[in-house]
Amino acid sequence: MDEPALLVALHDVTPAHAARLARAEQLLSALGLTSVAYLFVPDYHGRAAAHDDREFWARFRSPRPYAIEWFLHGYFHEEQASERGAWPSPRQWFARRFLTRGEGEFLALRGLALQERVQAGIHSFARAVGCLPKGFVAPAWLYNEELVPVLQRLGFRFTESHFHIFDLHTCDAVPAPVITWASRTRQHRLSSRTCALLARGLWQRRPLIRVALHPCDFDHPRSVDSVARTIEALRVTRRVIGYRDLANHSRTTIARLVHTPTLK
Ligand SMILES: [Zn+2]
Repeated sequence: MDEPALLVALHDVTPAHAARLARAEQLLSALGLTSVAYLFVPDYHGRAAAHDDREFWARFRSPRPYAIEWFLHGYFHEEQASERGAWPSPRQWFARRFLTRGEGEFLALRGLALQERVQAGIHSFARAVGCLPKGFVAPAWLYNEELVPVLQRLGFRFTESHFHIFDLHTCDAVPAPVITWASRTRQHRLSSRTCALLARGLWQRRPLIRVALHPCDFDHPRSVDSVARTIEALRVTRRVIGYRDLANHSRTTIARLVHTPTLK
């Protein structure tokens, strides 16, 4: 039986969100977490080249009260209009309509363009963080079946969908549903706070739950309150872990998931 665990990630680490990230870090420190995954975006919406921003990176050199695991999180974090294709599949149409606001950068990206985008991300990551990324998380967890083989070829260990973390070295999938908050409209915020509350109960018996925070959550005090209450409640019965600790968790084979991972 797995020890119940919690994995917390801070998405969209980019100079474009510097002030919001500072507020997020204040909360993460106050909550007394031991490990947080930071998801690095190389050039957010093509206007925030992170690897060139020395002032931004100087901030991250000072120690935090928790360990940081750095992962790569897309490149532009925005779907380029030229890559959308004239005829989207029903799944792409649904994802664009309901799951993201134009941020599914890896939803339709394929072939050489896909590989080159990930390689550009690795290069930026290495310049900024000073090492190679072990994990890749597609923006909004949206991608097609060509992404996983590219990540495997380029040596990544981890990627994930809404409901699983994939260990690409062992070809295993670790069940790990995610609680996250939406900030776009008042209705989105209200429904995501309700979902967070329900998910805590619904997934009570799940060995591993992820909590994913986004910088824009920190523009809304009621969302911040919901984030804090959720993490505090989960921590009563769960140990905070990082991706590096996943070796101890139950897995299923990746083979049956790899073909349709996007909405699982
Ligand atoms: Zn993101």
